[in-house]
Amino acid sequence: MRLRDAILTLDGVSRVDIYPSSSKIVVTFDKSRTSLAMIESRARRLGLEIAENFDHESFRLEGLDCPDCALKIEKAVGKLPGVLWVSVNYAASLLLVEYQRNGAASRDNIIKLVRDLGYEVAESYEKSERISKINRRTVATAVSGVFLVTAFVLKNIFVVDFAADTFYILSAIFGGFYPIRAAFYSLRARSIDTNVLMITAAAGAIAIGELFDAAAVMFLFSLGAALESYTVEKTRESVSRLIELSPNEASVLRNGVEVRVPVADVRVGEVVVVKPGDRIPLDGEVISGSSFVDQSIVTGESVPIEKLPGAEVFAGTINQNGALEVSVKRPIGEDTLSRLSRLVEIAQAQKAPYQQFSEKVGRIYTPLVLLSAVIVFAYALLSGDHSFIRRALVLLVVGCPCALVISTPVALVASLGRAAKSGVLIKGGVYLEGLGRAKVFAFDKTGTLTKGCLEVVDVIAANNSCEDVLRLAAAVEQMSEHPIAAAILRRAEAEKLNVPKPIDFKAMPGLGAKAIVEGTECHVGSKRLVETLGLQLPDSLASALESKVGTVVFVVRDRKVIGAIVLSDVLRDGAREIVSTLHKKHAKELFVLTGDNETIAGFVASEVGVDTDNVYAGLMPEEKVSVVHDLVERFGTVVMVGDGVNDAPALAASTVGVAMGGAGSPVSLETADVVLMSDNLMKLPFAVELGQRTLQIIKQNIAISLSAVFLMFVAAFAGKIGLTTGVIGHEASALIVIANGMRLLRFQPRNR
Ligand code: ADP
Ligand code: MG
Repeated sequence: MRLRDAILTLDGVSRVDIYPSSSKIVVTFDKSRTSLAMIESRARRLGLEIAENFDHESFRLEGLDCPDCALKIEKAVGKLPGVLWVSVNYAASLLLVEYQRNGAASRDNIIKLVRDLGYEVAESYEKSERISKINRRTVATAVSGVFLVTAFVLKNIFVVDFAADTFYILSAIFGGFYPIRAAFYSLRARSIDTNVLMITAAAGAIAIGELFDAAAVMFLFSLGAALESYTVEKTRESVSRLIELSPNEASVLRNGVEVRVPVADVRVGEVVVVKPGDRIPLDGEVISGSSFVDQSIVTGESVPIEKLPGAEVFAGTINQNGALEVSVKRPIGEDTLSRLSRLVEIAQAQKAPYQQFSEKVGRIYTPLVLLSAVIVFAYALLSGDHSFIRRALVLLVVGCPCALVISTPVALVASLGRAAKSGVLIKGGVYLEGLGRAKVFAFDKTGTLTKGCLEVVDVIAANNSCEDVLRLAAAVEQMSEHPIAAAILRRAEAEKLNVPKPIDFKAMPGLGAKAIVEGTECHVGSKRLVETLGLQLPDSLASALESKVGTVVFVVRDRKVIGAIVLSDVLRDGAREIVSTLHKKHAKELFVLTGDNETIAGFVASEVGVDTDNVYAGLMPEEKVSVVHDLVERFGTVVMVGDGVNDAPALAASTVGVAMGGAGSPVSLETADVVLMSDNLMKLPFAVELGQRTLQIIKQNIAISLSAVFLMFVAAFAGKIGLTTGVIGHEASALIVIANGMRLLRFQPRNR
């Protein structure tokens, strides 16, 4: 914990994850503000050495044709020297690797290894090739099916055995074409996957003259694989589709003329023109024009948002009715949509705890089935009873626990994709599970329960004039990013005050800020700041403030409190309903955590319906962290909701840290475990319910696939099913769990 806090407080660090089991720490930071050396020095100060640096990278795979081939790639890549961690997700078609920087493993040899296994690494999001490959497979499968039917008709109606047999073999060859290729790669890498098992079973069937079964196995297996890829592809598209929606070209104003250029050539600071109906090509700020923009792709909000000069717009969103001129703020690849989809991808490749369980079962299962097949086969040879050879072949056919392997990832990928579509970024299955289980929620006040758009309602002076109080406060706040600062500056501007320039500005997080104004030291901040400075409030000021409810900041000049400013904030739309929904359906306890004073915190809590005993006010950022630690200790799973910028440490301390309004700030995208891209708090109950539903579906899927897999094993062992029934059972169980998982793509919350 100390390590995490020590590194988190470095400027530019947005996220720190610690994995004690593998002595690993993952730090997300802005390279322009912090260096690796600074992080290392923090760690060293706590007596820790950084042994190695790791890079991580994600690869999009092509041609994954069986759920268990994901495990095969994982095993092979994991054996590369220098690879620390690897994860392959069949449902997302992604490979995620973490490897030693400057070590033996490199991007190139990872790609080479994947190619050796018979798969391709996609360079970009281009889909054409993938589709053509799928089509070729589909054609082969269809031909196999036609031959199978022809053979069946020839055999049973026209009774021409020889011709029928030829067609059966042709059917097996067409159906087996791609599986044979895959099995070859697999054996070359010394691993056994479902392709190897099926091919062996079909070959065995031919050897004992069961041609119909051989053809049926190959055809049905191919058909199953095609259906699986087809359905899973739909799930994958839920994310890759995002990126494809960004335009490739933009109209840029250069020397007063509009020119069409590829978006990659547009520089930050240039002005792009967006016509009505067009997609906005890059993230930026509106500098002229006004329009409504449909931002649903980024934030999940279905209602278009009005954009006036000064407003932020995002790449990929659709400009509706007016022309806009947008000054580009981020280059392609760093825009919000790209970051979002990258993060969703990485989240999808992450494994949920349930998945590790089913993979473990899978790892024991295949060797177990193979062993029994060998025993049964040996018995057949010894006893001379040929029906046992058949039985051994059926065991091979049901030897892959494919349904089990796919049961969790398909549900996760669908669920994370569904969440992204509604503007909720969830960084992995663990957090989805956390949300599904959560009973305790803690909210930050300013900017979370309230809008964070403060307004000055009162300026009170002790001795000087009110104007002086406001003028000095505004001077200090010019350099601050706090919402209080913005409110004070707005008011000073409205009163047309002549605000002096400050020097030596210093933010005091959780307390206030200070600067030198007109040669004297000035402070602006909370009561606690006044106390920290060892100062007393003048009596007149204290009594004037007694009747005020609101955020109060004090203005101090030359170590004397010269006045106070009272600010008010408005509750966020629907804050009350959300609290009551959570109370009714999900939550045992709700808390409010804030750095603001007790009066206003209590007032806000009672307004939204949080028990006033559950309010922690006047907290410094590090105290917020320790309150969250305490809550986690008391309750187990705690969801903390705040803004990802000021509350980053508290979010990190909770089980699931939820940041609001991520679309506006790239930092909170990186920081939190869950990001509500829009400022809509209503997405929180949605995410919680989605988490619950996902847990439910994962449990169902595991139950279905475990029973299917073991039933088939027992039935095959006992000789109760034939080859054809075995393949049908194998393929059907996988398709059933895929279909069940994909229901999450269409998830709708109940309470709306
Ligand atoms: P919250 O927990 O409500 O988000 P913060 O931790 O950001 O609040 O700040 C806590 C308190 O510190 C504020 O209520 C305010 O009194 C004071 N404060 C912090 N920053 C500033 C600032 N720039 N100007 C004036 N007061 C500030
Ligand atoms: Mg805050």
